[in-house]
Amino acid sequence: MRALIKDKTEVAVRNIEQPKVQSADDVVIRIALAGLCRTDVFMADGLINGNETVTLGHEFAGTIEDAGTEAAGFAKGDRVTVMPVIPCGQCGFCNAGAKDSCQNTTMLGINHDGAFAEYIRVPANTVYKLPENVSFKHGAYSEPVAAALSVMKADISPAQRGFIYGNNRFAKLIQRIMRAYGFENVTIHDPQTEKLEDNTYDFAIETLATAQAMAEILRAVRPQGRIIIRSRKHEPVGICFDMAVKKEVTMQAVNYGPFDEAIALMADGRIQVDDLLGDVHELESFAAVFAASKTSETSKVFFKPGTEPEVE
Ligand SMILES: [Zn+2]
Ligand SMILES: [Zn+2]
Repeated sequence: MRALIKDKTEVAVRNIEQPKVQSADDVVIRIALAGLCRTDVFMADGLINGNETVTLGHEFAGTIEDAGTEAAGFAKGDRVTVMPVIPCGQCGFCNAGAKDSCQNTTMLGINHDGAFAEYIRVPANTVYKLPENVSFKHGAYSEPVAAALSVMKADISPAQRGFIYGNNRFAKLIQRIMRAYGFENVTIHDPQTEKLEDNTYDFAIETLATAQAMAEILRAVRPQGRIIIRSRKHEPVGICFDMAVKKEVTMQAVNYGPFDEAIALMADGRIQVDDLLGDVHELESFAAVFAASKTSETSKVFFKPGTEPEVE
């Protein structure tokens, strides 16, 4: 099968062996569409530690091709998507049933072969069925929706006034999800064009952490306000402790919301994301698509790794 692979020397489309069910709880998925994420670009550029040789990609949807004997409830042809962050299954948190707290997670496209390929093998407990009315494109967008949905874990309430720092696609998605939960007083703050009022907001949601952004956010939240940390900045970011202490702010970091609820938000029409979803490309044009994603943030782009013409 064809796969977009990163190894020590290059990123390239290669022919590799098609994955097969290995253990009883594996499934193999035929990938319809896979979305390109910043994490994939960072991985391609060697900025994330992962496998030396790995197939990139982690946001995708497709159909079950084969299921192991213990992959209960899945059959060939089922339309599915996958939570790409995989708990270790062995630590104290995992054993206690708190797999969302696992600190030894691994991720598709980094530590396991990913989704920019015709087929992928994943553990069945990471797989979610897609309702009929959720297209493959929307299904492949479940992971960003689940990531944005994490803000609903924060201790905030709909009557409060807040802002989302950073005018980008992720900020728009967060705002739409919050509206679906009754948060009407949440604005998107574009640091390029606007200034925030000091000491005003009940909460701030960060999508773009820099020392300057954190300083702006700290000024804008009210005393005893809340700062919700959401971006996955790899490098440390400076925060003025003096200002944070004087204001007695609370910082709360959030990771993922429930994957099934992310899918349901799209299926029920509680959020509309069509305008955030962009073009579909062939795997072979990856170089141009990766390069373009670094300069433009307008819509999510997808790869269609298979050879069949139609994908919906
Ligand atoms: Zn992603
Ligand atoms: Zn674990």
